[in-house]
Amino acid sequence: MPQKIAVFPGSFDPITRGHESVIKRAVPLFDQLYIAIGLNAEKKGFFTIEQRLHWIEEVFADEPKILVTQYEGLTVDFCRQNNIGYILRGLRTSADFEFERSIGQVNKKLYPDIETVFLLTAPEYTSLNSSIVRDILRHGGDASQFVPEKISLREANR
Ligand code: ADP
Repeated sequence: MPQKIAVFPGSFDPITRGHESVIKRAVPLFDQLYIAIGLNAEKKGFFTIEQRLHWIEEVFADEPKILVTQYEGLTVDFCRQNNIGYILRGLRTSADFEFERSIGQVNKKLYPDIETVFLLTAPEYTSLNSSIVRDILRHGGDASQFVPEKISLREANR
């Protein structure tokens, strides 16, 4: 049987409990799961790439199936280069669905061997996203309940 290799692409700026939940639920479905930060020259992040990668590595240090990395360019090109057959995405709302539908359909046109796989968000994380976490931090609030338990936002590199 060929290996089932997937990528969960995103900004992870920073990783949240919503991301963590989707990743944990996806691990049993695949032989290998890349968590990959897509670099975007026009979009400067809130946290540095190194900081974001470091947090993800920390959270999944005990999970041998997970590989943490970054990539430039199209997600489908990253998939081709790494023998990845599945793109994993989380679905929170109908707005997510419309957005994901177009990306997923275009990706399939660009790379017919790819399948996008969606996991529905656990209800408790439906309203959670990285931009809410950044807003809380910008205004000096405590966002620790929204990010994985293992990470400490206090010593963050920005
Ligand atoms: P981007 O906005 O750059 O695509 P994100 O890091 O925000 O990247 O999201 C990456 C993936 O994680 C997307 O598939 C998104 O739907 C999913 N995701 C984000 N937040 C949640 C959440 N609270 N619950 C489940 N999935 C989520």
